Amino acid sequence: MSLYAEHLGASGMREPEQSAPPVYTQSSVCDSNSAKSITRIAPSPTGALHLGNVRTFFINWALARKHGWDIVLRIEDLDTPRVKPGVIDQTIETLAWIGLDWDSGPIIQSNDLPNHHAAMVQLASSRRVYPCSLSRTQIQLASNAPNEGDHEIRFDPALRPSEIPHAFTDKQTNWRFVVTDDPIHFEDRFLGSQSFCPAHTVGDFVVWTQRRCPSYQLAVVVDDHHQSITQIIRGNDLLDSTARQIQLWDALDFGPLPHYTHLPLVRGADGRRLAKRHGDTRIEHYRSKGTSREHIIGLIAYWSGISSTRQPISPSEFLDAFNLDTLPKDDVIFTKEDDQWLTN
Ligand code: GLU
Repeated sequence: MSLYAEHLGASGMREPEQSAPPVYTQSSVCDSNSAKSITRIAPSPTGALHLGNVRTFFINWALARKHGWDIVLRIEDLDTPRVKPGVIDQTIETLAWIGLDWDSGPIIQSNDLPNHHAAMVQLASSRRVYPCSLSRTQIQLASNAPNEGDHEIRFDPALRPSEIPHAFTDKQTNWRFVVTDDPIHFEDRFLGSQSFCPAHTVGDFVVWTQRRCPSYQLAVVVDDHHQSITQIIRGNDLLDSTARQIQLWDALDFGPLPHYTHLPLVRGADGRRLAKRHGDTRIEHYRSKGTSREHIIGLIAYWSGISSTRQPISPSEFLDAFNLDTLPKDDVIFTKEDDQWLTN
């Protein structure tokens, strides 16, 4: 039986602790008839859509249409230094071209800043955030663990100021969230039980940036709450972010959590997440070569356990055939043959 048909009720809670355990209840409203389930397709317009993120959005769309959830299209444009002019329109046009539709939006994330600001005021009033102007090098030096490459560095809670203010005043500085020490347990609807401990992995993470806007973590939590999102479908590279977002959701007293479904990623032959280094895998690139959307969806179907060979299929055929229970659990490797299928 599909997980979506089950009543998950109060699954996804922290494991019982000795005293007054905080309980994270994943929303049960979406399994009842009384309230609408809502999901979001949330592209970041930092680069054109490629086969990897389009596969995630396509599966998100198919799950929503199969189960009767509403879809909000949300453009996550707060990553401002990387948002390129014209990419928002291009992103929306590409999603429509490939066959996706949505029930509301596009909502442009940066238009909603008062909600994020109010969340910061609330977090500050309970002393869960503080300004921090330490540089990356200073944080790194204070950390015992080696931090390599562009991985997020752990902010040791020992670096917290001794006095945490209770007002959100200085908007031109980074603000960090006071993480709790406990691991966060949640039930993923594709991967099953998950457990992450933000205090050990990232420590006090940034929620407000010196660019005077919320970080990705805060923006997503506030938007998901205000848009009444009950189903979050996204790539498994965000699994550990989910634990951070659950802590924020709880600190903001936002009530029942959404359900989470984290999907396998598409990777290059070197095992790294699909990116420019693997050649041009943008949908625009294939379109300019005359590739049909049915060929692209055919490849997504082949990667998703729908067909054993690559063959063109339409959005509605994909929708009829898609089944989360038979989606392969492993990440997908994008091969030369895949590229040839799209370009020949
Ligand atoms: N904006 C992210 C992306 O384009 C998705 C973030 C999320 O789903 O929380 O992959």
